[in-house]
Amino acid sequence: MGACAVTDHGSLFGAVDFYRTCRECGVKPIIGCEVYVANRTRHDRTPRVDDDPYHLVLLAENQQGYKNLLRLSSIGYTEGFYYKPRVDKELLSAHSGGLIALSACLSGEVSVHIARGQAEAAERAAAEYRDIFGPASFFLEVQANGIREQERVNREMTAMGARMGIPLVATNDVHYLRREDARAHDVLLCIQTGASVDDPGRMRFPTDQFYLKSPDEMYQEFPEMPEVCAETARIAERCNVEMDFSTLHIPEFAPPEGESLDSYLRRVCMEGAARRFGLIPDAVRARLDYELDVIARMGYSGYFLIVWDFIRYAKSQGIYVGPGRGSGPGSLAAYCLGITDIDPLRYNLLFERFLNPERVTMPDFDIDFCWERRGEVIDYVTRKYGADRVAQIITFGTMAARAAIRDVGRALKVSYGDVDRIAKLVPAELNMTIDRALEMSPELAAAVAENERIRMMVDVARAVEGMPRHPSVHAAGVVISKEPLTEHVPLYKSGDGVVTTQYPMEDLERLGIVKMDFLGLRTLTVIGNTVEIVRHTRGEELDIGSIPLDDSEVYEMLRRADSAGVFQLESSLFQNLLREVKPTRFEDIIALIALGRPGPMVMTGDFVRGKHDQASVAYLHPALKRILEPTYGVMLYQEQVMQAASELAGFSLGEADMLRRAMGKKKPEVIAGLKDRFLDGARERGVPDDVAAEVFSLIERFAGYGFNKAHSAAYALISYQTAYLRCHYFPEFMAATLTSVMSAPERVAVYIDSCRCRGVEVLGPDANESLKGFTVRGDTIRFGIAAVRNVGEAAADAIITARKAGGGFTSLSDFCDRVDMTAVSRKALDSLIRCGAFSAFGSRRALLAVMDQVCDASAARQRQQQSGQASFFDLFDRPAQFGQAEVTLPSVPEFRPDQILAMEKELLGLYISGHPLAFLSDTIGKLSTVAVRDLPGVPDGASVTLAGVVAGRKQISTKTGQPMAFVQIEDMTGQAEVVVFPRVYEQYAQLLAPDAPVTVRGRVDVKEDGVKVLADTVSVLSTS
Ligand SMILES: [Zn+2]
Repeated sequence: MGACAVTDHGSLFGAVDFYRTCRECGVKPIIGCEVYVANRTRHDRTPRVDDDPYHLVLLAENQQGYKNLLRLSSIGYTEGFYYKPRVDKELLSAHSGGLIALSACLSGEVSVHIARGQAEAAERAAAEYRDIFGPASFFLEVQANGIREQERVNREMTAMGARMGIPLVATNDVHYLRREDARAHDVLLCIQTGASVDDPGRMRFPTDQFYLKSPDEMYQEFPEMPEVCAETARIAERCNVEMDFSTLHIPEFAPPEGESLDSYLRRVCMEGAARRFGLIPDAVRARLDYELDVIARMGYSGYFLIVWDFIRYAKSQGIYVGPGRGSGPGSLAAYCLGITDIDPLRYNLLFERFLNPERVTMPDFDIDFCWERRGEVIDYVTRKYGADRVAQIITFGTMAARAAIRDVGRALKVSYGDVDRIAKLVPAELNMTIDRALEMSPELAAAVAENERIRMMVDVARAVEGMPRHPSVHAAGVVISKEPLTEHVPLYKSGDGVVTTQYPMEDLERLGIVKMDFLGLRTLTVIGNTVEIVRHTRGEELDIGSIPLDDSEVYEMLRRADSAGVFQLESSLFQNLLREVKPTRFEDIIALIALGRPGPMVMTGDFVRGKHDQASVAYLHPALKRILEPTYGVMLYQEQVMQAASELAGFSLGEADMLRRAMGKKKPEVIAGLKDRFLDGARERGVPDDVAAEVFSLIERFAGYGFNKAHSAAYALISYQTAYLRCHYFPEFMAATLTSVMSAPERVAVYIDSCRCRGVEVLGPDANESLKGFTVRGDTIRFGIAAVRNVGEAAADAIITARKAGGGFTSLSDFCDRVDMTAVSRKALDSLIRCGAFSAFGSRRALLAVMDQVCDASAARQRQQQSGQASFFDLFDRPAQFGQAEVTLPSVPEFRPDQILAMEKELLGLYISGHPLAFLSDTIGKLSTVAVRDLPGVPDGASVTLAGVVAGRKQISTKTGQPMAFVQIEDMTGQAEVVVFPRVYEQYAQLLAPDAPVTVRGRVDVKEDGVKVLADTVSVLSTS
């Protein structure tokens, strides 16, 4: 087959991928689109009139046609979307150049009229398309899909073509590659429409003919009219589109009058250098000259200025910007411009790691912004460069192996138990495929071999796995273009109105569209909020950018692994690293960030030994000593690999970067060539041959593991800043941290626990005291209103607004009268009463008893107010109070303490007014060897005794039908999962009743998804 066309419905999502794949296989790619043509205009959206648009196939004959496709498909989404992206005839007329149009399938306008027996309307439509695209570029389609209806349409098309002189063309709607894929495609349709294969009346394709037919097969389908197939080939011949993968489209930055981009960049860099360094040292000047020279030579001055500009904007608006990420902090120019906040000279970071003059690639700054205000920066860029030149980026979720099995199983009506069992046999690893799973899991292979239905499910799942599913908006990427984006890429509009490209990130890079990463980082929001709270509580202006990096109390806190809430260093993995490494300086934190990654982790042992016994570290060469001293002799960073090659063998840093890359990607031929260069260079510099060879193999060994120090250093700075705030402004920092995880009760519980450890009391929510998020008063933290389950931010806002306007609430009635109760649901009010937010007004039980009465009365008053009578009440200051009858609270006893605790647990995620285990706490302390909170620090396999109550139990059956259980044991510090295998369970099941106090002896089992205890024995926890 010489050529092949892609004509997705309404979109061009796959065009670049298709183009490249065809080219790689020596097939000519034809870029097309089966557009939806609105029944009336693209602006009409009347149900049942406009919701079934016609199909029309458009093929790009040349570059102009391709650009018109980009525009049409984009406008379909941005202007014409109504269930489908629709264009209309006005648009088609305006953008018909370079396009070949085919009348499409049975849903094409001409076919629909034919099928309805409206011959005249069919002719009118055909004539209209012929006029739009020109007589040489409009064709009537005949298809070969085995549908009876189609045969009638083919006959009529043939007659019409002859009558009107419109040529015919043979096509086939291809929805899957091979005929045998029809079944998998059918299941996929079921998955997409939420149906199962047995559903009567579900959407399905009538035949199995929608596959890619060979030219021979096509000729056989139309034995009487070979010319229609010849026409297909002629059209393919006419279509010639080239995608340009070699031009960079850097957006335009306008420098001030009289300046070029290069000169302006130099000026702002020098000004920045003076701000950063005062009197500019020679080394800084020399490095800056070098960098600016490379940047100008590669044509990236404009790019740097654009990034500089929007970061400057963000900072001017008080939006927190991260200190950098990725390899960007290697650039001194970026540091002077305020794009990054790490001095690369001080930490030996290399410009070539970011922008290698010997490898032409696009520079790429990844920037973190305050999570909540990231959108403001994107808005700014959109205003500055034009809404038609800025868009976010699309990303496609794909169906992973397990999800494919589950979805296919559901569609095939395999029993839930079987689907679940088979899906779980697929190992939970990244990039797992069904083929790999079959190799790795003998159980899965056996299950497939044994059962026909399961085999079919797995087969179909294998055919659909990896297929793209829903498009969504990329978390960070934003593209900025010099010309309107639709000159280069098609646009998509997501359900919530965000405009994205139709091409994903990798395609955009190939097309030379500049993308920037605007990542939202919650930690920056936490830092910003902490600074804000400190301003309120202590009247202190804290400048997080100028805190000392050698504060001994901060390091002391970190050495205790007291790090809940500290950026990157709070997981149990990092807590262990903190205990081992015992950091004493900022370089140690940079190293920690790197050591916590799967690759570099292998160097932890050497690093720790070197750190604690520096005399024992031997260096192969004095030059290496300088390079490796910050990491105690370990080659931890990619930058160290590059420096070693440069200083010992005279490599330029650009070449050294190539060496590092080759080693990282394990390319033996490249490495062998560079090894000779290395040894020769070392000899010239007087390094003995054996030492040079040894250094080279050292480099080779570590190059694959090495981590990017620029990234480590920037993230270490955020870690340090959060540690500093935690150390010196504990309540404020924890309040900000708690607010940032407000919607995740389990994380709230963890942080509150660490507050209590430090003696900081956490008070429950209070209708008169709480703000939306967590707040600080003195040494206590007050629960936020929006952190209560069932109470959203809108409700919290309404409550705070009313309080600001009219002062504190005096009763539940007063509250309901003054708060906009349309924002506060009954369920929210119920939750607020139960968790104690109104306890100042009466007992929870009494308030609940009158809640409905109070709400109804208030609602009636508010309605009255809004109706005509309001004008009279408006004369008074506080109309709501006029005529208000206070509801009397019934005298009923309050809930029991254990009931109140249960409510708190449910609504706040933790106990506030006490702890159900309080009376057991002494006993628990005596009998247990470890508190639940500390389990993550216990090594795998260690024996432990837990003491607490049974908070939950899930009994299951093993494959052989024996009962076993997963039991939650709770103590004062949290809940732990205990696995009770059949033999143990048989013996102790009756002790593991809900709320029973027990001790469990067992072994610790550390897995990726958490720490469990495998029970050996269980006994009753006796308080005597
Ligand atoms: Zn169609």
